[in-house]
Amino acid sequence: MKVTALAGGIGGSRFLLGVQAALPDADITVIGNTGDDITLHGLRICPDLDTVMYTLGGGISAERGWGREDESFVVAEELAAYGVGPAWFGLGDRDLATHLVRTQMLDAGHPLSDVVAALCVRWKPGVRLLPMCDQRVETHVVLEDEQGQRAVHFQEWWLRMRAGVPARSIVALGAERATPAPGVLDAIADADVVLLPPSNPVVSIGTILAVPGIRDALAATSAPVVGISPIIGGAAVRGMADACLAAIGVETSAQAVGRHYGGRGRTGSPSAGAGAGGTDGAGGAVGTAGLLDGWVVDTADADTVVPGATVVSRPLFMTDLTETAAIVGTALDLAGV
Ligand code: GDP
Ligand code: CA
Repeated sequence: MKVTALAGGIGGSRFLLGVQAALPDADITVIGNTGDDITLHGLRICPDLDTVMYTLGGGISAERGWGREDESFVVAEELAAYGVGPAWFGLGDRDLATHLVRTQMLDAGHPLSDVVAALCVRWKPGVRLLPMCDQRVETHVVLEDEQGQRAVHFQEWWLRMRAGVPARSIVALGAERATPAPGVLDAIADADVVLLPPSNPVVSIGTILAVPGIRDALAATSAPVVGISPIIGGAAVRGMADACLAAIGVETSAQAVGRHYGGRGRTGSPSAGAGAGGTDGAGGAVGTAGLLDGWVVDTADADTVVPGATVVSRPLFMTDLTETAAIVGTALDLAGV
């Protein structure tokens, strides 16, 4: 069975562990978000790709959910002693080696997709991990406060400001000129099932969808497309997805996110043909065509209706691997695979 999943960082990775547990023999392709990428101290850092690689490869810090297990921060302390920031970005010593290798390869002219493949030779995540594109795309957040209107890198808004300053808009800079990385469109077209994990709908999934061609490939694939809600009972489970949703004018609810993705309205879904509107927003706007055949929501959101998609409910907290694999099982049942 060929499974293709889009993924952000922590939420996506946890879900992917469940996919591997539910389908140990599946051929899994992961299309990773690179909008969170940032250059610091001359090093190119890809937080979401690394989170997937480390989590599935057994190197992730279980406590933090990002970065390496058994990590030290000597270099970061030395930088701080020079007064060189930013202090808000966690840069561990072990993790630095990954960024050094990546930057060296990129500087030598290798495309990011090849760099990721090379890093995965060590980590063996058990999936084919593809960046959404090889070009540089960066999510920036437009803020307006007493200092006036300005844009900051997503990481500064997320980590330093804890998304506390309301975002006027969220922009995937460079996305419109990007092209899907090699293998991305084929992985969507040739899949037996496509999964949208409970990753952030705006700055993870939304950014991937902002790369021209990816949304159309999802709309066109003959594979069933099933999404899992990151919102439970009107709240983001972990993190601050509500601040991102507010920026694009989407309510923080499983129904609103499902409608934002939109139903595909294919035969077989209860309200097939009902169409799927959706708000237009930066970093992954929903166009006219919906993406979802199925939408899995928590039992707290059982009354969710997404025109053109089949909605099922079950508990959606990824508390442990067994539970996460069961969530994946529900998504696969809904997909009919
Ligand atoms: P990030 O890049 O590290 O922020 O990770 P992702 O974008 O992949 O996932 C973040 C999202 O995962 C958050 O917005 C949460 O809503 C969602 N999430 C985290 N834990 C859970 C969980 O146990 N269940 C569900 N349904 N969603 C979760
Ligand atoms: Ca992320």
